[in-house]
Amino acid sequence: STPPEVVTRIAPSPTGYMHIGTARTALFNWIFARKHGGKFLLRIEDTDRARSTPEATDAIFRGMRWLGLDWDGNAVSQFERVPRHAEVARQMLANGSAYKCFATQDEIAEFREAAKAEGRSTLYLSPWRDADPSTHPDTPYVIRLRAPREGETVIHDVVQGDVTFKNSTLDDMILLRSDGTPTYMLAVVVDDHDMGVTHVIRGDDHLNNAARQCHIYHAMGWTLPVYAHIPLILGGDGKKLSKRHGATGVEEYQKMGYPAPAMRNYLARLGWSHGDNEFFSDAQAREWFSLEGINKAAARFDYKKLDNLSGQHIAAMDDMQL
Ligand code: GLU
Repeated sequence: STPPEVVTRIAPSPTGYMHIGTARTALFNWIFARKHGGKFLLRIEDTDRARSTPEATDAIFRGMRWLGLDWDGNAVSQFERVPRHAEVARQMLANGSAYKCFATQDEIAEFREAAKAEGRSTLYLSPWRDADPSTHPDTPYVIRLRAPREGETVIHDVVQGDVTFKNSTLDDMILLRSDGTPTYMLAVVVDDHDMGVTHVIRGDDHLNNAARQCHIYHAMGWTLPVYAHIPLILGGDGKKLSKRHGATGVEEYQKMGYPAPAMRNYLARLGWSHGDNEFFSDAQAREWFSLEGINKAAARFDYKKLDNLSGQHIAAMDDMQL
């Protein structure tokens, strides 16, 4: 029997330069897909029109090309899929897994203030969840997920293990805004499902989101992807990697002259290892890579190690030319 096809993706938001964290996530998805003879897809998450720019999209394309991370098919624009996201929100309304909420921003803000003042939970639970549809006013509404109130949501994550969330801590998240645009939560699930994504490999800052996103899969009767949430990259001081530590943009490394194979090798080593091997080829990375081998602890960016690996790759390339 043939094993199920592997489909991975990278889904960057085009709001700035291409961060090396994005490159590392792309690299893991690419190695994993290529190892299994599957597909690696690129989706530009450009639904936030105020923050997305064509320059940032170009920077992603350039970064991916420089790194040699070839994707299959055309890059997908999430914005172009907004009608499809709205359609799924309507289907969820129809099957009862979502509801119309007519609460205004002011009402919700008022609720939060009062709850805070009285020391109660500020988690907003909409009174419209159980309202009789015949009482609905003729005013704008958002569509909210009818999230489970009791029990727990468990995410089975290849890297993090089983992670449990108390459902009482999750609100009925908004799926579709009153202007008809989807939230990130809805768009990402609909797109991953429609694109046939089997493995969601992304930063662990999205682990909480997975606990919410899985309810959309359940509501639609869709198969959950395999989740692998990878730890963020830290600076040498153990704090989240930022400009303070040095260059964080892919393009900066390209300009500094690091060869792409060295960059791939080094980025793969950030969070993944194979025995004591530091220096390896793409073919070896492909052979050795596994999601189970991704470290649970965050990796620290080490400029000296990158320089060292880079020197070894340049020497290896020189050897091949002799
Ligand atoms: N667009 C999201 C981001 O840039 C990624 C979404 C995902 O990987 O699920 O962080």
